Amino acid sequence: MDDTLLSNLPGTRDILPEEMSSWHLVEDAARKVFACYGFEEIRTPLFEATELYARGIGGETDVVGKEMYTFSDQSGKSMSLRPEATASVVRAYLQHSMHRGAGLTKLYYIGPMFRHEKKQKGRWRQFYQIGAEALGSEHPAVETEVIEMLLSFLSSLGVQSRLLINSVGDANCRPQYIDTLRAELRSRQGSLCDDCRRRTETNPLRVLDCKVETCQPTINDLPMIADHLCSECAHHFELVKQYLQEAAIAYEIVPRLVRGLDYYVRTAFEIVSGDLGAQNALVGGGRYDGLAEVLGGSRVPGFGFAMGLDRLVMILPQEIQARGKHPPDLFLAHLGEAAFHRALEVARITRGNGIFCQLEFSDGSLKSQLRQANRIGARTVLIIGEEEMARGSYTLKSMENSTQTEVTIDQLKNHFKK
Ligand code: AMP
Repeated sequence: MDDTLLSNLPGTRDILPEEMSSWHLVEDAARKVFACYGFEEIRTPLFEATELYARGIGGETDVVGKEMYTFSDQSGKSMSLRPEATASVVRAYLQHSMHRGAGLTKLYYIGPMFRHEKKQKGRWRQFYQIGAEALGSEHPAVETEVIEMLLSFLSSLGVQSRLLINSVGDANCRPQYIDTLRAELRSRQGSLCDDCRRRTETNPLRVLDCKVETCQPTINDLPMIADHLCSECAHHFELVKQYLQEAAIAYEIVPRLVRGLDYYVRTAFEIVSGDLGAQNALVGGGRYDGLAEVLGGSRVPGFGFAMGLDRLVMILPQEIQARGKHPPDLFLAHLGEAAFHRALEVARITRGNGIFCQLEFSDGSLKSQLRQANRIGARTVLIIGEEEMARGSYTLKSMENSTQTEVTIDQLKNHFKK
């Protein structure tokens, strides 16, 4: 057989059962915390018209320009696997008229995204995000509510993180800032990498995002958007900071933090974690009041974030991971043919009562079955032999403290209810 069929494609991976408990734990915690804040789950398709992403994310971004998995089906229409979900959520919001009068519509999603990324630790080509979008309000307290929800979720998982924020202005003030930035960049082309030279003309804001070492001294010297905000944007940013302070949320202002697209306005934020190493971004988010209009809808202010689930699971503290593990309550050791049939019956009864019960189908010795029970971490073992069957009561052995008791099947059910 072709060896390549026996390994997954680069940038993808199998999430194996032993890791899955941490994924479930994180997803359950998100669902619980998000529900308290009134967020409801939405599932959008894994692929959409390429045009939705080209407009919703921007043709100039690396994500759309270089990283999308694009194909056409029998109809010849260009489609792409979703590289992110905000564009789809806003599309769905508009398509299904989900606005709630003056109220906020709060949506969250969990699922895989696809980007043809360069190979790097912490970067996958299929990765998972949990994201949330609050649609329908420009109020600066929305930022605080969403960020508070995120931080409360992360702290419930014992994850250490830092909140970085900035304001990126809006259609009023950003164009002038971009002109100033471009002029400055044009005069410093010699000290910039090829990408930044190109971005000087196509999207100068993205230069601020560049991670290339040799560009850093120049970038640190560039004019900052904070000094070019119009009074409305400056006021909004002041209020965001005030609400954060009121909620006792610590933040750091990072003047270089940007979202390089026109319809991202005002607040941009990131949550980083020192435990992640070089790829330290755990969450990226911001306000996108212009996105719905870009997609052809009416104006719908929005604020949201996307969090990397793969990265979050990677840094989940050991003691939290342990909470997600659920070893069997009961292992059935059976000795002989008749005992095996009895064990199948006991398994059916206990499982029917919500008890996690395991047994082996091979007929090993008692010793080897106890070894197996130990290996899978079973808490108790019920020993079923011919004598026990004749008595109608069985030896229940605790694997935690080696104590033994005699129980009938009815007593067994109650034992686990306790
Ligand atoms: P973005 O949608 O690019 O703002 O990313 C939001 C978050 O998703 C990041 O902070 C990462 O945690 C995660 N993320 C983005 N791209 C990848 C990737 N290729 N592999 C793993 N996680 C990713």
